[in-house]
Amino acid sequence: MEKTLSIIKPDGVEKGIIGEVIKRFEGNGLRIKAMKMISLSQKEAEGFYYVHKERPFFKSLVEFMTSGPIVVMALEGENAIKKNRDLMGATDPKKADKGTIRNDFASSIERNIAHGSDSPESAGFEIPYFFSNIELVN
Ligand code: ATP
Ligand code: MG
Repeated sequence: MEKTLSIIKPDGVEKGIIGEVIKRFEGNGLRIKAMKMISLSQKEAEGFYYVHKERPFFKSLVEFMTSGPIVVMALEGENAIKKNRDLMGATDPKKADKGTIRNDFASSIERNIAHGSDSPESAGFEIPYFFSNIELVN
């Protein structure tokens, strides 16, 4: 069993598709181990996307991620990291496969509804970024 961090970004919350996104996770064998709705401060968003700090889109990404509440979840399942990313589709919704979350709902490469950890190392940083051990159900 593998764990991954999922975020429904401010655009997903604004569009009222929290339930739809979670339905796709639960319908595809991902179980929710922890979940909360929060608003990120600038510092918290910068820290989360630290790996992208030199990218040209970093400032805009941080502004977007702090523009409204997000839903953060720890998901668990077989190949959870890949499964979550397959369900989301490519970063750019125009390149994402039909039937993926991003192709169905995202409005741009930045405003792309969801985040998913991209490796076990990322998940190992991202899950404890938001959840302590006692917040993860057994
Ligand atoms: P995420 O990390 O959010 O799951 P990802 O792994 O598919 O997405 P990354 O390359 O890690 O994509 O980029 C992180 C986020 O930065 C993207 O999800 C998107 O919101 C934003 N982003 C990525 N590339 C661009 C770009 N060229 N222009 C604007 N925003 C971008
Ligand atoms: Mg990424």
